[in-house]
Amino acid sequence: MSTAPRRPTPRPAATAPAAPLFNRRQRLILAVLATGLGISSLALLLRPDSAPDTATALPAGVTATETGTAPTLTDELLPLDEPLLDVAETGPFLHTIAPGETLSELFSRHELDRATMQAVLAADEELLALDILRPGQMLVFDIDEQGSLQRLTLRLRPGHVVHYQRVDGDHFEFEDVRSPSEWRDYVFTGDIQGSFFLSARRAGLSDAEIARAQRILGEKIDFRRDLRAGDRFEMVVGQEVTDEGPTGHTRVEALRLQLGRRTVAAYLHDDSNYYDEDGDSLGRAFLRHPMQSQHRISSPFNLGRLHPVTGRVAPHHGVDFAMPVGTPVLTTGDGVVTRVGNHPFAGRYVEIQHPGQFKTRYLHLSRVLVRQGESVSRGARIALSGNTGRTTGPHLHFELHINQRPVNPMTAHIPTAHSVPAAQLAEFRQRVENLVASMDYAEQFLALHEVDTSGNDS
Ligand SMILES: [Zn+2]
Repeated sequence: MSTAPRRPTPRPAATAPAAPLFNRRQRLILAVLATGLGISSLALLLRPDSAPDTATALPAGVTATETGTAPTLTDELLPLDEPLLDVAETGPFLHTIAPGETLSELFSRHELDRATMQAVLAADEELLALDILRPGQMLVFDIDEQGSLQRLTLRLRPGHVVHYQRVDGDHFEFEDVRSPSEWRDYVFTGDIQGSFFLSARRAGLSDAEIARAQRILGEKIDFRRDLRAGDRFEMVVGQEVTDEGPTGHTRVEALRLQLGRRTVAAYLHDDSNYYDEDGDSLGRAFLRHPMQSQHRISSPFNLGRLHPVTGRVAPHHGVDFAMPVGTPVLTTGDGVVTRVGNHPFAGRYVEIQHPGQFKTRYLHLSRVLVRQGESVSRGARIALSGNTGRTTGPHLHFELHINQRPVNPMTAHIPTAHSVPAAQLAEFRQRVENLVASMDYAEQFLALHEVDTSGNDS
């Protein structure tokens, strides 16, 4: 978007570091990095200002809400006699992504050539993490004395970094590092005044969570016609938290609507699908294959695949189907188009977020038939297959992610069953009982204390 020529920051001469490359805060961070504490401690010190919102919610037997405020950096953390500027020559250079900033801008600012950026993007083909940089994400450039990039680190979100490490003159490999996380549940309640959307917003739910709720129960009720003023809703939302703070991932654990005398509810089972209180599936089954006709698998899903050139492990996060250019590509489940991109190695691609914790990706397309934000139904044509990006022939690369991790789409447990399997029913019922108890508790708490749920802290 920004086409204005950006004056490249000159590499400072050894004698006179001209314009300061870093502000004071960044230099402090660099010093911390240099003292070997590493990127994980960096996250503790410098949390992006766009930390995920922590919605106001009733703590129904839940640990205290963590606030998303950035910790202040105090002078106690300053290694007092550390020669801070010594690191300025070769890095690590830390950069927090500003709105509109692109990867190529940052590479040219560090006088890194196009071939280097291409090599890093090649390593990112299976992740596509660098393809859409978001403000607040951080990049660390490790550049040696010869001005050669040795390692690039992307901090995607608290608890999740990706390292792109140089392995030889032309290649980088990635390492996807995630901190252990846990899910904390929050209960949101409210009554319908106006639309469900506005009512849920008043209760503190995010737009994305409301949209998800509507998709989860979309087959059961009509959110525009079936709701009356005074109907109540409860929602249990899980927030993923790491040692470094909330990751920004949330999931709807339970949703209950009390429409007059009728109650409609959805509960997330550990197969990442939603079921009603009796264990009957609310979502439609997934398709196993993203196309109508049979096509040969030319390359299977393989986390231990060896790179043909470097001989090192280069995971294959999808399954490749050999097919002629122009073959219709179908979404394997209902969902929303979350990304449409064009990558030098992945080619034209589409990403779809499905209800539950499912995501699919379709790469090397010749034509994309959907737009970002569009809702799609299972089996809909979303693209035509192609041969774009780096390929050895026309094929479709298809990925399935469950809970933000790629899995083998040919063998993964996807919602194909119509109800919770009998063997898991007891466990499912126990879980429903706990979620119902949380929601009931929240309602009782409200009734007893007349808590203001208009968005103010209780
Ligand atoms: Zn592939």
